[in-house]
Amino acid sequence: MEKRFYLETFGCQMNVVDSERIVSMLGEIGYHQVDAADQADLVLLNTCSVRDKAERKVYGHLGRFKPLKDVRPELIIGVGGCVAEQEGRKMLDEVPYLDLVFGTHNVHRLPELVQQAEEGKRRISLTGFLDRETRLNLFPQRSDLDTVTRFVTVMQGCDNFCTYCIVPHVRGREVSRPSREIIAEVEALVAQGVREVTLLGQNVNSYGNKGKGEVSFAQLVRKVAAVDGLSRLRFTTSHPKDLSDELIACFGDIENLCHQLHLPVQAGSNRILQQMNRGYTREDYLQTVEKLKKVCPDIRLSTDIIVGFPGETEEEFQLTLDLVAEVGYADAFTFLYSKRTGTAAADLEDKTGSRIKQQRFERLLELQQNNSQQIWQSDLGATLQLLVEGESKQGEGQVFGRTDWNRIVNFSGSTELIGQLVEVKITKVFRNSNLGELVN
Ligand code: SF4
Repeated sequence: MEKRFYLETFGCQMNVVDSERIVSMLGEIGYHQVDAADQADLVLLNTCSVRDKAERKVYGHLGRFKPLKDVRPELIIGVGGCVAEQEGRKMLDEVPYLDLVFGTHNVHRLPELVQQAEEGKRRISLTGFLDRETRLNLFPQRSDLDTVTRFVTVMQGCDNFCTYCIVPHVRGREVSRPSREIIAEVEALVAQGVREVTLLGQNVNSYGNKGKGEVSFAQLVRKVAAVDGLSRLRFTTSHPKDLSDELIACFGDIENLCHQLHLPVQAGSNRILQQMNRGYTREDYLQTVEKLKKVCPDIRLSTDIIVGFPGETEEEFQLTLDLVAEVGYADAFTFLYSKRTGTAAADLEDKTGSRIKQQRFERLLELQQNNSQQIWQSDLGATLQLLVEGESKQGEGQVFGRTDWNRIVNFSGSTELIGQLVEVKITKVFRNSNLGELVN
């Protein structure tokens, strides 16, 4: 009998890649993915613990599945990802109808756990970090997705311990994959029709192997870009302190490296940056941006910013606003600081009221929305190159692609264009996407 699973994914690209792997692995043991939990024999949540009250939200989501379990006790319910890593067995105690908990280093063992659950062994928890060698053998490999753009994981984990961040505690220390494996994976993806690759890592530009003959991240970027048939290359996420001159130079002379970079600044004040343990100053960051714009004048940057870090003063917040205005980000992901238990910043004194923090957040949002609008509006009437990715959600006869700057453009066109680079004239600019007309 056909077995069905339902999967919900929260959080970052790392989780998206883990979920692709889950889909592949469950396929190998006879499970098909469905769109609704009430049609499934197995329900999984792949969780993220970066945001405020993440654990409580996961427990809330799990509550939706209880009525299903009441009716069908054989239903298997599992939780993976960062919240599972953090909470471990405690989740089983809190949720009596939960069957499986698997942490970030144990995703590969999910099929085994599911099979045990099918045989009646329930209430299983598998968390804890693996050693470096084992992890190197377990990097997510290419899945069988039929898409023209793909993520390729080059490193995992993080050694930085920014004081507000839970990631090093739930994903473990940095480990980088041998470059020959990465190149081989990209070559195989291109051979199966992939045209754009994004090199993925928690802190991608600190990529580095001590192995003989290994390369720097900039050298890796050059090698991947040179794979025959690869139309576009991106990488994420970059840490400003690790963005070397060698890597910046890549934006000036690698033709298929997209002119777009996500460079999280987090704050504009040196005191706050130091309290966050970010490892750079405002001046360092601005100098890096200047170098990028010099080698690649049309580069578009995006960033992450935390508002209301403990002790942030009005003057310090103003420095963030000034920096945002000076850099001119195309996009920014802005967050209100939220305390993560187990991180160093959780112990810092914080006297600023939530109303003031909320007002600051709104001021930053308004500034950034104006910046973004100006930048994206400047594309109106321009003819831009798109990589066509698939059918558009806008309706029949419409397809969509992305510009070099990672902006979605919908236009009328045939699905035969999928995977091709085309020229499209921008006719309308919306908040999150554009509309265009095929030119060639
Ligand atoms: S660099 Fe800092 S913010 Fe990014 S994952 Fe590592 S600790 Fe977290």
